[in-house]
Amino acid sequence: MRIALIALFFCLSLCCLMSVYSQIPQHNLKITYIATEGFLLESSTHKVLIDALFSEGLGYFAVPPQEVIAQIMDCKVPFDNINVYLLTHYHMDHCDPKLINEYLSKHPDIPFVASKPSIVFIDGTCFGFIAKKKQFKILTPNINHCISDTINNIPVKVLGLKHLSYIVNGIDLEENMFNVSYLFEMDGIKIFHSGDADLDSVRDYLIKNTNWPDSTDIAFLNYFFFTSGESDLSYLAKALNPKYIILTHVPPSLNQEWQARVNLLRKKFPNILFFVNSMDSLSIKI
Ligand SMILES: [Zn+2]
Repeated sequence: MRIALIALFFCLSLCCLMSVYSQIPQHNLKITYIATEGFLLESSTHKVLIDALFSEGLGYFAVPPQEVIAQIMDCKVPFDNINVYLLTHYHMDHCDPKLINEYLSKHPDIPFVASKPSIVFIDGTCFGFIAKKKQFKILTPNINHCISDTINNIPVKVLGLKHLSYIVNGIDLEENMFNVSYLFEMDGIKIFHSGDADLDSVRDYLIKNTNWPDSTDIAFLNYFFFTSGESDLSYLAKALNPKYIILTHVPPSLNQEWQARVNLLRKKFPNILFFVNSMDSLSIKI
């Protein structure tokens, strides 16, 4: 009888686990595009949201549709059972302080990983945000340094990679914007998300550190990484050696142009992809 009960309990537990994570086989990553650099990532037993909650495209970049924001805010499928929310930096096309504050209030079990400048920025807009500090994992590496941690069983490396430069009259308007990039592991799959770093930031990191901190299966890189075309791709393929590249942050008005560029890049690196419509998804087997 006891054995039967244990067996029943085991089956029920397994059923619960399978109902939560039933769709994603082991060694697979399901990627759902939200907008710009926002993604939902699902592996066999984990879900990660990154740069997902924002509502400002600065007149140029894609924003998540209202119904997608509502789904995320209510943790409706597929946005249920999120293990961690990662934020790369606090530009408005990545981070809406009010939405993030409300999301964390509604879901106090979801850890929020961000750098201190991002936390300060959100706190400045949403007074009292800091009261949720038990929910925060504040990781603030110096530029060209890396911090390692594990959050909800997800090993995370946070790299201080400078935000791409935007030079006007000899001044870098992004000089003080603090960007972090993430290298994290979901059920054995290693993912790199650049945030708004660029190739120069990766070069600088590698000059100071010699080696990239870990291997990379799937690299999410914004389109500024590829503005010089094939030479950039060759450098990245050698330095990061990813199995797949997901191109991010492409403005909708340039989708056609970048589709043509990606077709050219594929001749050199076949596994380069990018998404156009919010909620488009695909699964990659590693
Ligand atoms: Zn930015």
